[in-house]
Amino acid sequence: MPENGGANSNLMSKAPRIAVLIAAAGKGLRAGEGLSKQYRPLCGVPVVARTVDVFRAALPEAQIHIVIAAGDEALLSQALGGREVAGVTTGGVTRQDSVRRGLEALTNTAPDMVLIHDAARPFISPILIHFLAKEGGSGDFDGVAPGIPIADSIKKCAADGAVEASVSRADLWRVQTPQVFRFPAILDAHRAADPALNLSDDFAVAERAGLRLKMVQGEEANFKITTAADFDRAIAALVNPLTDIRTAQGFDVHAFSPGDHVMLCGVRIAHTHALLGHSDADVGLHAITDAVLGCVAAGDIGTYFPPSDPRWKGAASQLFLEHARDLVAARGGMIAHVDVTLICEAPKIGPHRDAMIGRVADILRLARDRVSVKATTTERLGFTGRNEGIAAMATATVRLP
Ligand code: MG
Repeated sequence: MPENGGANSNLMSKAPRIAVLIAAAGKGLRAGEGLSKQYRPLCGVPVVARTVDVFRAALPEAQIHIVIAAGDEALLSQALGGREVAGVTTGGVTRQDSVRRGLEALTNTAPDMVLIHDAARPFISPILIHFLAKEGGSGDFDGVAPGIPIADSIKKCAADGAVEASVSRADLWRVQTPQVFRFPAILDAHRAADPALNLSDDFAVAERAGLRLKMVQGEEANFKITTAADFDRAIAALVNPLTDIRTAQGFDVHAFSPGDHVMLCGVRIAHTHALLGHSDADVGLHAITDAVLGCVAAGDIGTYFPPSDPRWKGAASQLFLEHARDLVAARGGMIAHVDVTLICEAPKIGPHRDAMIGRVADILRLARDRVSVKATTTERLGFTGRNEGIAAMATATVRLP
């Protein structure tokens, strides 16, 4: 692609090669809870993973590259949960330096265009990404970014809040990301920029280099998650549209057999007997799985994992619950809560309850306060009272669009 002018005819015949550079090197701790905000889960999916997903969906051909802080490799890998990206670069102390390093890493593949985006803006729409990629590859501008014209009146104030002047808002915009550039132009601009300037966005870098820049209408939903209140807003944005609320139950029984341990809610517990079953006979996870499947009216465990199928002999029941979880996700829904009651005389559940809650929460990618594990006996009555086996009953609540 030529440096300037005359590019349009080339682009008509050949799609530009696009890179997405996601800036995730910040130590965003203002949102609380110790973990940098880009790695924190939002309704089960970490912020940076949501951002990767939306760009992947909007621009399947683009190579996605992420800039992270030194030492965050394991956090990123865990957050991405198997999503593959084209590259990961270690950033610098400032955002400006981090983005420059990311751009340098892209010189290997020399894309025609780069979209530089904040990891903490996961709610950009695929439509806006598409539009920006189209605008960035055409016309007379070196860079294009989404923004919102300012509606509030603007005051210039001293440190103590004393108003010094009213500033006309007529020409003022709030700028968002992704900021889209012809790659060689923004690479040169970053290389020329003094790192000490600590510029907060790439339009500021580009402006200093004399690039021609344009703002287009952005989206209020494309806000940057910064504070704890932003996290609340983000969760509301995800949850509020899920108004179809379903509750379903699950029930399961497994008989005792000779052995030295049982699996209950994903936790191995030493015991005088084992539980008999085709899989690992985790009666707790089976009941929860059926409850979740019931919420999406998707049959029961046997529909997907029939005991007649040798593949599931001795299988970890975690697989079954993950499948149910993924069916809910595929419907665009979320699991709001699960509650399971284990019914037996022995083993004692109390000492293992916290571990069970942790395992179920991890498998379902839920916060621990959305998982309840309870236990009861049947006062020595019936088959559980006679220590012939363990029963479990579960309830799940799922929210769907
Ligand atoms: Mg079972």
